[in-house]
Amino acid sequence: MSTNAGERPCPYCGELIKANAIKCRYCGEFLDEQRAPAPLPMAQVDEPSAAVKMIVPVGRSGWAIASSWLALVALVPFPLFVFIGLIEMGRDSLTANLMWLAACINAMFGVLAVLTGIGAFLSKKPGRGRAIFGLVVGFLAAVGYFGFVWYMVSNFVKSH
Ligand SMILES: [Zn+2]
Repeated sequence: MSTNAGERPCPYCGELIKANAIKCRYCGEFLDEQRAPAPLPMAQVDEPSAAVKMIVPVGRSGWAIASSWLALVALVPFPLFVFIGLIEMGRDSLTANLMWLAACINAMFGVLAVLTGIGAFLSKKPGRGRAIFGLVVGFLAAVGYFGFVWYMVSNFVKSH
């Protein structure tokens, strides 16, 4: 009873194999596509579409990219905008308070840049340059803008 019952030819090499075989024992091909190992997700990262390539540097850690962008946002002089916008109105306490608020925005983005920069190092993917940029610039922006606002507001209060 050991004829071809329960056997079929391998679609890849033609050798007779068990009908319910998952993998051909002659050529090693997987016959059940659902059980075959899925293509590695990294393959998609290595060959993204052209549109993605334009926005995201290929193969870089998403953490490093996020860190560098957050650091750039942290550099935006939010307190200065408030100062220029409201100084003419003569509302001393409002200007000072909003400058502190704006400096908190810088600090928040700076801290996020530092945290995502750390995340980039932990992920151990390429993009260390961006991660270092995010860490350093994010930290300096957070500290620098708070120092700047401290100086501006203290002078502001003295002169009024
Ligand atoms: Zn085969």
